[in-house]
This record gives sequence, structure tokens and C-alpha cells, in this order.
Amino acid sequence: MIYNAPVKDMMFLVEEWLGMDRITALPGHDDVDADVFRFVLEEAAKFCSLELLPLNRVGDEHGAVLADGEVRTPPGFVEAYRKFVANGWAGLDADPEHGGQGLPRLLQFLVDEMLGSCNMAFKLYVELTHGAYHLMAAEAAPDLQQRYLPRMVQGEWSGTMCLTEPHCGTDLGLLNTRATPRGDGSYAITGTKIFITSGDHDLTENILHLVLARLDGAPAGVRGISLFLVPRTLVNEDGSLAERNAVHTASLEHKMGIKASATCVLNFDGACGYLVGAEHRGLAAMFRMMNLERIAVGIQGLGIAEIAYQNALAYARERLQSKAPAPRPDASKAADPILYQPDIKRKLLKIRAQVEGSRALAVLAGYYADVMVSASDPEAREEGEDFVALLTPVVKSFLSDLGVASALEAQQVFGGHGYIREHGMEQLVRDARIAPIYEGTNEVQAVDLVKRKLNLHDGRLIERLFAKWDAFFEAHAGAPALAPFTAPAEAAFDRLREATAKVRDDLLADEAAALGAATDYQRLFALAVIGCLWAELAVVAAAGDSEFHRNKLKVAQVYMEQVLPEVTALHEIIMQGGKALAAFEIPRFDA
Ligand SMILES: Cc1cc2nc3c(=O)[nH]c(=O)nc-3n(C[C@H](O)[C@H](O)[C@H](O)COP(=O)(O)OP(=O)(O)OC[C@H]3O[C@@H](n4cnc5c(N)ncnc54)[C@H](O)[C@@H]3O)c2cc1C
Repeated sequence: MIYNAPVKDMMFLVEEWLGMDRITALPGHDDVDADVFRFVLEEAAKFCSLELLPLNRVGDEHGAVLADGEVRTPPGFVEAYRKFVANGWAGLDADPEHGGQGLPRLLQFLVDEMLGSCNMAFKLYVELTHGAYHLMAAEAAPDLQQRYLPRMVQGEWSGTMCLTEPHCGTDLGLLNTRATPRGDGSYAITGTKIFITSGDHDLTENILHLVLARLDGAPAGVRGISLFLVPRTLVNEDGSLAERNAVHTASLEHKMGIKASATCVLNFDGACGYLVGAEHRGLAAMFRMMNLERIAVGIQGLGIAEIAYQNALAYARERLQSKAPAPRPDASKAADPILYQPDIKRKLLKIRAQVEGSRALAVLAGYYADVMVSASDPEAREEGEDFVALLTPVVKSFLSDLGVASALEAQQVFGGHGYIREHGMEQLVRDARIAPIYEGTNEVQAVDLVKRKLNLHDGRLIERLFAKWDAFFEAHAGAPALAPFTAPAEAAFDRLREATAKVRDDLLADEAAALGAATDYQRLFALAVIGCLWAELAVVAAAGDSEFHRNKLKVAQVYMEQVLPEVTALHEIIMQGGKALAAFEIPRFDA
């Protein structure tokens, strides 16, 4: 497989569209300039394409293996992980107080995309640690932070999130794992967790499980859940490792894809754990990690879509098959590159338009994530929080769906050669498929968006979003040269506003109608917002004078013509209010 990291596009977004000054204006980032961004991205590009990409197939073929109760990662993973740590990638956006580099989250998101493109299974080992670190940094008591955080930042110890149980997936209120005080401030954790990513492996000397469990006598439902840190190996007060904790890997799941990622069934047999955050407030604390992971999972999809696109494009340039419609590139040849087939060209341009627009969405979310944690002005922090909260389900769902759809389309470009293993396309399809499922299925993201985010703080979040683009469209209303971009984006934006009013009304009057429309609404939301982002990108590109800028405008046009019209269909479906769905009673499935 080939991979050329899209550093140029990333730098265009950061420098020309977002504006470096918005990042340097944030406390703690005043010394982060475009050179720092470019240097980090170029180094990440080298590491990902030279070290991780060659291991992607190896990982798929060997998979993670459980032997004698211990998980071994595929050949080469331990060495690659050592280099990852030695090069400082483990602590990119971690607090310097814990040994991190304190770089913006936005930069981490961009590096994440490259990791996702080159080796999604490897990415999972480091991604969970990243989320666990930020959770602990925000929620854990100072002594736990002191003992554990620097080791995570140094990449010596990794993290997991242990939520799912056999009978309890989406609905965490059902979980049974118990926590009993041991009388010394610690707790005995007992229960079985399934599907635990990186639950065991040989990359780090210790693994820190963040486990949701119920204290004895705790209320039922989500209000009775607490969060515990359960190390695989116990840690002495001086930070040295003590004996193994009572956490056992019962088995590894056999999966469709990401085979190098160890997905474990873990038994906690009275394992020693430490409370993180307040009693019964565990789910809220865990959401710090879940929200980060949700964006990270969306970015996995973006990464897969990018590499699928690049490889399909390269193949379409080389593969000679059929004569293309006039004008043919070389009329003397028996067949032309399939790239000249209008449908292949359409497929590739549609992926590209969605990938580049989605990258802008990820950059926007990354920027607001930095504002949320770094801005000194409380109002700015609140704005950052609002945008991150609103955009998280959209990023998670749209980008992960894009990963699957793009991998499939790119595989189709290869014809039968995409179905066999040789070109790596079938692995991309299998690997991409998990992203819409884990970390809260995309349907559950839609419920979060419609039921929670639209109404949070009396609709303040969505009103901010409307105000942001109302101002943009007003500012560019008198620019006819930009109308091919601003007019369709504004029309889609109006449909988003109408659809939003409809689902909010339905939520009050007829919850089933609102929830039945939630997935369509979430997609409409993403398509319309990315349409607005493309209009903004077009404004920036129109002011530039290079092949890159001219291309941007052409890709923007593709988005407006080939992708955005789906908003109209989704809008129509939503406005009908799901009457046909309501008319079909559940018992009729049996008829
Ligand atoms: C490879 C892999 C890795 C994973 N890693 C981890 C991990 O590290 N840690 C961890 O704790 N878990 C992990 N998971 C678990 C994963 O997050 C869950 O599988 C996922 O959240 C869905 O839960 P479930 O499988 O029990 O499905 P269910 O909750 O049973 O859902 C089944 C279907 O019903 C739908 N559904 C359920 N409730 C609703 C609702 N309210 N509204 C609309 N639709 C609904 C779902 O969308 C889905 O389509 C992993 C899973 C896999 C496969």
C-alpha cells in the first residue's frame, strides 16, 4: 500500500483557514507556530509510513495471540511501540507537568489521522492510553496522578476503558461489576468485562484499567456507578512494580478486522482498585475519556478513508481497461486507465470531497477542544465546550461511516483485485467496519445529539452553531463569485435549521418520531455543516493563487454538486415525521 500523509492539506487548514494566530492566542501555546506544526506533522508522516504501514498487513495476518494467560502482539509491534515512545509520540498533548510536550490537541488529532491511515490496530494501543491519561489528569486524586501519570506519558504504562459486560453494552446502567471497600482506602473489584481493547498485551510493563463498577449498596442505574483504577500489576508507593493484581484475561475475541488489536474478556477476581473521582459519579468521569475516544474513533474513519482514496487513485491511474469516452488520453491504445471512466472519476472525487471536508470538521473540533481546556476567558471556554459537545457525535458518526463507505468504494475501484488480499483493500474494509459500532454505536450518537445536545442549556449549543454560520453567510452575501459555494451551503444550512426545529418539536410531542429520525438528522447535520465548512474553504482558496488553491475550489464544487444534495432527501424524510414507521406496530413483524 502507498501512503502520502496529507501534510499540505493539514497545513492549509491550520494556517490559511483556521489561522495559526487563533492557536497561539491560547495560553500555553504562544510558542507553537506553523513551523512547529509542520515539523511535527512531517515527522509523524515519516514514522507512520515507514514504521507502522509495513506492519499493518503483518498485524492482520498474525493477529494478537493469547498464550499462557498473556497476550502477545504481532511481530514488530513491540519494536515499533518502543520507537513510538522514544520519539516522544506518547505525550504529545500531555501536560508538561507530567512530562508531556503540552502541544495543542488539534495537533494530536492530525497525527491521529495518520496513525489511523497506516495502522488502526496499532493506533488503538496508544489511543486508549491517551484517553485514560486525560481522564486521570482531570479526575484522579493527586497521589494517583503523581504515581501513574508520568509513566503513562513516558509510554511505560498503558490504559484501557472497561465498561462493557456480557449483558450490558449501550445501557451502562445495567452493569453488575461490584466494588467492595477493603478497609485501607482501596476496593475489591469483582466482575467480567468483555470487548476490552488493549485489555492485555506485551507493549508496556503495566496496564491501567479504568473500570466502571457499582459500590455495595449503590443505587441501581447510571447513578450508582463509580470509576476505579485497577492496575494489572500493583504499584508500590515508590512507583516500583509489586505483585500481579487479580485481573485475568479469559480469552481474546475473534474479530472481522483490527486483528492485531487485542480485544479481551477480562475477569476481575477481587482485584485491588482505587476510586477515581467521587462515589457514584463514575459515568460522568468516564465521559471525559469517552468523549475524547469518540472523536478519536471518528478520526480512525477519516484515516481509513484517506488511505483508501490514495490507493484507489493510484490503481485507477495504472489499470488499463476499456476505452474511455472521448476525448481519450491516447487514442492509439487498446484500453485507457480506468481513471478516465467517468464513474471511477466520480467515485474518487466524491471520496476526496468528503475526506477534505471532514478533515476541516476534525480541525474545527480540535481547535474548540483546545479552547475548551486552554482559554483564559471563561466565556471562550464555554463556547469551546459547547462546540465540542455538539460536534462530538457528528464527528464520531459521520467520519466513521465515511471510513466504511470510502473503503468499500475504493475496493470497488480495484474490481476483483480489491476483493483478494494482495492490495490490502479488503483489510481496510474489515478494519473500518468497527468504527461505527464501538465507543457508542453511531445510532446512539444520534440519540445523544437529538435528545441531549440539541436541548442542553435550552438549545444554546445549536444556537451558537446557527449564529456562527449566519454571520458567515451574511458577510459573504454580496460576493457573486462565491455564490456557487455559499448559495448551496446556505440552502443546506436552512434545511438543517428546519429539520432541527422539527426534531426538537417532535421530541416534546412524539419522542418515537424524533428518535426514528435521529440517524437521518445526524447525517443531515454533518453534510450541511461540512457544506458550510467547504464554503469557508472556498473563500480562502479563492484568495490564493496556486494549483493547490485552484484544485480546492474544484473539489469544493464537487462537494456542492455531488454530495450536498443528499441533504434535500434527508430533509424530506425528516419533515414527513416518520408516519409510516409509526403506523407499523411491532407485532406486525410476525405477520
Ligand atoms: C472490537 C471491539 C472493541 C471494543 N472495545 C471496547 C472497550 O475497549 N471497552 C469497552 O467497554 N467496550 C468496548 N467495546 C464494546 C462496544 O463499545 C459495544 O459493543 C457497543 O457500545 C455496543 O454495545 P453492544 O455490543 O452491547 O450492543 P447493544 O447495546 O446490545 O446494541 C445493539 C443494537 O441496538 C442499538 N441500540 C441499543 N440501544 C439503543 C438506543 N438507546 N437507541 C438506538 N439504538 C440503540 C445499537 O445501536 C445496536 O445497533 C468494543 C467492542 C468491539 C466489537
